[in-house]
Amino acid sequence: MNRPELRLHTPRLIENIRVVRERIGPSELMLVLKDDAYGHGLAWAVQAAERAGVTWFGSYDVRSGLDVRRALEGDARIFAWATSTDAEIDEALLQRLDLGVGTADYLDRIVARARELGITARVHLKIDTGLHRNGLLPEEWPQSMAAVRAAEAEGLLEFAGVWSHLAEASDAEDDEAQRVFLSAVALAEETGASPQTLHLTASAASWWRPELRGSLCRIGAFCYGIRSADGPELDGVVPAAELIASVTEVVDGDAVIGIGSFDGLPSTIAGVSVGTPGGPRVLRRIDHTSAVVEGWPGMTAGDEVTVFGAGERGECSATTLAERIGTVGEEILTRLTPRVRRTIVD
Ligand SMILES: *Cc1c(COP(=O)(O)O)cnc(C)c1O
Repeated sequence: MNRPELRLHTPRLIENIRVVRERIGPSELMLVLKDDAYGHGLAWAVQAAERAGVTWFGSYDVRSGLDVRRALEGDARIFAWATSTDAEIDEALLQRLDLGVGTADYLDRIVARARELGITARVHLKIDTGLHRNGLLPEEWPQSMAAVRAAEAEGLLEFAGVWSHLAEASDAEDDEAQRVFLSAVALAEETGASPQTLHLTASAASWWRPELRGSLCRIGAFCYGIRSADGPELDGVVPAAELIASVTEVVDGDAVIGIGSFDGLPSTIAGVSVGTPGGPRVLRRIDHTSAVVEGWPGMTAGDEVTVFGAGERGECSATTLAERIGTVGEEILTRLTPRVRRTIVD
């Protein structure tokens, strides 16, 4: 009854996706779904995005990639980039997942499993462009490209893409990363290969740095309406989710609401504005299982308080809360525990 609620607004997600796709066109959108779709719930995000016409999904690991496959009606592409066990590779091949590959050993294992199962693997080869987080070094690239070409010739591999990930720490570093990326692409093409896709950018670079976009953009945060911490607002994009808690009692002119730090709400965000039926009010304190909000005229048990959302009642966004405690908006969402009910507004 008094469980807090994360309200998922399907029309907002669909509109955000439309706005993002319009912004990045003619590049295509890959909707990133890691951490259970940034805490929103994977099945909800997949089904809404599929309705919105999204044809590429990014799932991080094979296990969640298989969850995406189950949630889909059509045959959209699913990109899983975590290095996986042989058993996971088998599942991925059987379910037609696209695999992100950042080591020579992983490439060898995928080709071996493809040969064993008689299935063509879809492989996106990752060049390390400076982040040093899973990727082939430029000096390893020629040998891995040779392995890709040999497996292609045997019908064991479809060269589905070349990709990398940007640090997004400075424009100059990202420019340099793109230079490394494009020279890897050029080397691949010199071998006669033609990767089906090129993808380098996530939300911020896809939105703000059009010259860095490839044919595909891997975007999570902005599609859910989570802007970058310390970054500007995004034209036409609104938070898709809002966190609601009900008033349980009125004490000394304040409202006690049924959400606390045990639900994943950081107690250090106290002091922010939340949305109430009387407009914005100060969130005074967060205890283990409840929180205290500055009162408003006529408040009564059962009234809803919007802890974060799209600002309709004066509440902050998840990113604004995050900025107060030096983190990013997605962290506020992914920390919410399963006790917070996910409800859908279509
Ligand atoms: C998380 C992630 C993304 C998406 O990042 P956003 O900033 O949320 O858009 C893209 N690519 C990779 C490899 C990621 O890990």
